[in-house]
Amino acid sequence: MTIFTKIINKDLPANIVYEDELCLAFKDINPQAPVHVLLIPKKEIPSSQQIQKEDQNLMGHLMVKVPEIAKRLKLSSYRLVVNSGEDAGQTVFHIHIHILGGRKLAWPPG
Ligand code: 5GP
Repeated sequence: MTIFTKIINKDLPANIVYEDELCLAFKDINPQAPVHVLLIPKKEIPSSQQIQKEDQNLMGHLMVKVPEIAKRLKLSSYRLVVNSGEDAGQTVFHIHIHILGGRKLAWPPG
């Protein structure tokens, strides 16, 4: 269990921008861009390395929700990031899609 489970269970407050039965999107506590939202499945999948065949519809659901959430956040351009594993910068082991936007983003990332 991670801190994100506490947010899902409303045991920890978060600025929620979207929620349904399968997923939750909330503002990152330490934003790296003017808009920085985390989109997570409610199912506890630690990282992309642990996505299984049975998660196909769930992960597809998250991707389908991305443009809807981006529209809600008034983002026309944005970047999706899924840090997967410690060396990739993952710190919370409940899979999450970072939705970053609101400024020009440099490439490549660090
Ligand atoms: P990661 O480094 O694992 O890809 O991303 C984890 C993200 O979760 C970080 O951007 C961090 O700021 C965010 N985060 C960590 N703890 C909390 C929290 O308690 N609330 C919110 N809203 N975001 C958090």
